[in-house]
Amino acid sequence: SLKGARVLVTGASTGIGEQMAYHYARFGAQIVITARREKVLQQVTEKCLSLGAQKALYIAADMASESDPDKVVNFALEKLGGLDYLVLNHIGPTPFAMWEGDMEHTRWLMKVNFFSYIQMAWRALPSLEQSKGSLVVVSSLLAKMTNPFTLPYSSTKFALNGFFGSLHHELAMKKSNVSISICTLGLIDTESAMDKVRSVTKIPAYPATEAALNIIIAGATRQLDLYYPWFTQVVHIMKELFPCATNYVIQNYSYNYNP
Ligand code: NDP
Repeated sequence: SLKGARVLVTGASTGIGEQMAYHYARFGAQIVITARREKVLQQVTEKCLSLGAQKALYIAADMASESDPDKVVNFALEKLGGLDYLVLNHIGPTPFAMWEGDMEHTRWLMKVNFFSYIQMAWRALPSLEQSKGSLVVVSSLLAKMTNPFTLPYSSTKFALNGFFGSLHHELAMKKSNVSISICTLGLIDTESAMDKVRSVTKIPAYPATEAALNIIIAGATRQLDLYYPWFTQVVHIMKELFPCATNYVIQNYSYNYNP
């Protein structure tokens, strides 16, 4: 049961994170949400309370900052008295375009999408250990197979899978109480994703609210790997088995691109 569960969800002002906040609220959880835009966070917490959350609090933070990731976890630990779920979901905006050598953006994105994740996880681990809690990492099919137009984003997601997949081994070897769930998502119909890809691909997009529920279930059932929608796992296996054919399809049939 998630009733009364103490949950921190990042990137919850919009998209999948916002939908996760609403699901947790319907389950009667105690939630802290975070993102940069304070006004939007306030509206989301109000809706969470109206949906049944035992508690709903927000803290505005910028995950590119070195101190904000710790600040957010400290806030959640203090306000909720500990954590049962840490759901790492936020991403910084990034262009959907060919790589033009923008190192500054790539460094910044690595801070937002990767370094802040491992910083928050490390800060929350002692509390999750005490509560036999769960660490949930929202990742992407682009962390399993390479694609054009999203090089910095894809790199941050590969880094997350490498880090948290390895951490899973270490926690298991230490007989830790903490579970890790790594969620591999295909295209989801959030505004930010659809704005980028609507005109360039016919890949089907799946509903954010259903993706959010699947992520929550993966965390609650302590499942290591989630694939949503299910066929993302098939696509990943195809890429492993038939790399040349898959690359050919990606380069020639997946996107409208005219050089
Ligand atoms: P959105 O772009 O809709 O939401 C991103 C969230 O991150 C927002 O709440 C945003 O709020 C917050 N955010 C952005 N920059 C920062 C920052 N510097 N510091 C703190 N918070 C920040 O993302 P989605 O809902 O589409 O994606 C959610 C997760 O799902 C991501 O991990 C993504 O990689 C993954 N995913 C999504 C797919 C999709 O097709 N949508 C496909 C595969 C994976 P604010 O602007 O207020 O800071």
